[in-house]
Amino acid sequence: MLPHSSDDARGSLYIVATPIGNLDDFSKRAEQTLRDVDYIAAEDTRHTRRLLNHFGIEAKLFSIHDHNEKDKADYVASLLEDGKNVALVSDAGTPLISDPGYHVVHSLREKGHKVMPIPGACAVISALCASGLPTDQFFFAGFVPAKSKARCDLFESWKTQDGTVIFYESTHRIYDSIADVQKVYGDDAELVLAREITKTFETFLSGTAAEILAMFDEDANQMRGEFVVMLSFIQEQGDESEIEAKRILAILLEDLPVKQAAAMAAKLTGEKKNALYKIALEMQAG
Ligand code: SAM
Repeated sequence: MLPHSSDDARGSLYIVATPIGNLDDFSKRAEQTLRDVDYIAAEDTRHTRRLLNHFGIEAKLFSIHDHNEKDKADYVASLLEDGKNVALVSDAGTPLISDPGYHVVHSLREKGHKVMPIPGACAVISALCASGLPTDQFFFAGFVPAKSKARCDLFESWKTQDGTVIFYESTHRIYDSIADVQKVYGDDAELVLAREITKTFETFLSGTAAEILAMFDEDANQMRGEFVVMLSFIQEQGDESEIEAKRILAILLEDLPVKQAAAMAAKLTGEKKNALYKIALEMQAG
């Protein structure tokens, strides 16, 4: 029985996560869904056939990949209209996350079809939760550009990003990407690289970009496999004095108008009066 089968005559699309390494991460619900659907749309049918064979699931496959998915969206819609249930899988992990499927899901949702997630492994989430970096806010950038100039421009644009920044990288470009992180951030970013998650050589490397590059130089095996790169920016100096200025402003604002509080705080902290005036206004507003 498919989870939450639709109550109308139309079929549903199931977005089914598959393992990112360890086959034991394939959930019972994912297995059952792939058994029960009428069709499985796969990024690479040969790849998915191996997974299906392993679990003894009939391979009722057709392909949906980056180059045909816009055309295939209508085909999937027609299957659902005919009352067929379809599962979408990618080669590994959660479909649509740096994998094909967005156009299909977007188009089906616009047509009012039912789309249901069957959750499971996803490299970005697996990496982040074990990294030790902040998890309260994060920004996932997918794959970064292959060319160094475009990559450095993108890294520059992250300078104002809050929380942990995460991207996917391949073994071929990992050294050059980390070298560009070093170029843009120097020692101002703390990095964690999650390599080969859930596989035999799972490794988490942490340090500054320079330290990670030194680890690569010492042991080239550390550059092998699949990577999730995570960056946490070290707060710029000056934050501490801003915190102190805010503390003083908060006390002064209890008894003084904004302008006088800012002037007094400037005398006490040595910070600029205009900047403190702006902060005081924000504090009063918020
Ligand atoms: N949809 C997948 C997911 O849910 O994470 C991601 C697919 S994307 C085409 C493949 C990239 O994900 C790899 O190049 C690597 O950056 C990352 N990745 C996938 N599996 C991984 C693993 N076991 N360990 C580390 N990174 C992995």
